[in-house]
Amino acid sequence: MTALGNVVLSGVSPLGGDPVDVVVRAGRIAGFRPAGTSPAPEVVDAAGLVLLPAFVDLHTHLREPGGEEAETIATGTAAAAAGGYSDVFAMANCSPVTDSPERVEHVLGLAERTASARVHAVGAITEGLAGQRLAPLAAMAGAGARMFSDDGRCVDDPVLVREALAVAARTGTVIAQHAQCGRLAGSGQINAGPAAERTGLPPWPSTGEETIVARDVVLAADAGAALHVCHVSTARTVALVRWAKAQGWPVTAEVTPHHLLLTDTDAATAQTRYKVNPPLRSAQDVAALREALRDGTIDAVATDHAPHPAAAKAADWCGAPFGMTGLETALAVVVEALGADWALVAERMAHAPARIGGITGVAGRPIAAGEPATFTLVDPRARWTVDPADTAGRSHNTPFEGLTFTHRPVATVVDGHVTADRGGLFPGSTR
Ligand SMILES: [Zn+2]
Repeated sequence: MTALGNVVLSGVSPLGGDPVDVVVRAGRIAGFRPAGTSPAPEVVDAAGLVLLPAFVDLHTHLREPGGEEAETIATGTAAAAAGGYSDVFAMANCSPVTDSPERVEHVLGLAERTASARVHAVGAITEGLAGQRLAPLAAMAGAGARMFSDDGRCVDDPVLVREALAVAARTGTVIAQHAQCGRLAGSGQINAGPAAERTGLPPWPSTGEETIVARDVVLAADAGAALHVCHVSTARTVALVRWAKAQGWPVTAEVTPHHLLLTDTDAATAQTRYKVNPPLRSAQDVAALREALRDGTIDAVATDHAPHPAAAKAADWCGAPFGMTGLETALAVVVEALGADWALVAERMAHAPARIGGITGVAGRPIAAGEPATFTLVDPRARWTVDPADTAGRSHNTPFEGLTFTHRPVATVVDGHVTADRGGLFPGSTR
C-alpha cells in the first residue's frame, strides 16, 4: 500500500451531501473547503463521487490457513478493499481452527504481512468448532480477539453458550452465534415450503434459526453479555430480536446482502450459486429483513463472504458447499435493496459494525476534520454487470452473476493508504 500523501478530494459529496473539497494531510482529514477552491497540484477530481466511511465487515471467511485454494488473507482483503472495506472480522473456521491464542496471533501475523484491510481474528467458541468443550476465550481475548463464533456451525449446547457468555461479560467481548438448531435443521438443503416442494430437496425449517435465537437472547440477558446474531434470515427472528432489544437486552444482529435481495425462488432453480447457510428465504422474510435494517432492529450489514473453488460449486446441489462471495458486491446490493440513503449505509456498514466489534478507535469513524483518512469513494453513476471473473478475490461463486447494478466503490483509503483504486483516482498510489 502506498501513502496517499497530501491531496484534496475536489467536489466530493460526503454522505451524498453538497459537494466540497476534502483536504487530506498526513493520513488524516485536515479540513474542508468550498468545492473547486483548492490549488491545482494536490487536487484529485472526485466530482460526483460519494464519500463514505470505509466499511467494516463483521463476518468474512478468509479461508487462510488451510483453505487457500478458495481464498487467502491477501486475496480476501483485496476483495474487501475493492468493496469499500477497511476492516474485516475473519471467521474461525479455518484449518486449523482459530481456537487458541497462538492461532489468533498466527492469523494476525499473516494479515500484517499480506493484507489490504485490517484483519480482526474471530476466535472459536468451542475447541475445533466441535461444540463439546469451550475454547480458551479469555486467553484469545488477551491475544486480541474481540469476537467469538463457531460460525458455520451453531453452538447447540445451551450450557456452553452460557459459559461463553460469562467469559464475554468478563472480557468485554461478544459472542456471535450462527443460530441453527442442529436437530431441527437436520439435513435441510433449501427453505422449507414451496421451494423444497418444487425441488424435492430436503426442507430446512426457519424454526431451526428462531428457536436458537429465542434461547440465546435469554441467556445473554441473564449473563449481561453481548450476543450478536449472525445472518438473520427470517421474519420471526426479526421479531425476536426486536422484542429482546425492547427489553433492553444486550443483543445486536446482522443481515447479509444476499438475504436482502434474493429469495427461495432463486434457490428453487437449484443452481448451486444460490446455495447458502442459512438458506435464502421467502419474499415475506426478505421484506421483514429490509424493514428491520431500516428501523435498526438489525444493526449491521455483514457479508458472510464465503469463497469456494469452482470445482466444489460445480457439484450437484446436495454435494456442493454452502456459501457465496459478497465483499465486492455488498454496497451495490444494499443500495439496490434499500435505496441510496447514505447516512443509513454509513451507519449499517461502518459505524454500527465497528461498535459491535469493539474497534471504534480505528474504524467506522465519522467523516470529520482530525479523523483518520479512512474512507471509500462510491460512484453513484456507475452501471455495472457482475462478472464473476472480474474479482480481486480468488473464487467466483457470486450469486449475482449477470445482474446489473448501479453504484460501485471506486477507491478505498485506510489511514491515508490507498488499498483499492478501480477508478484510477490516485495514479502511482495503488499497491
Ligand atoms: Zn454462518
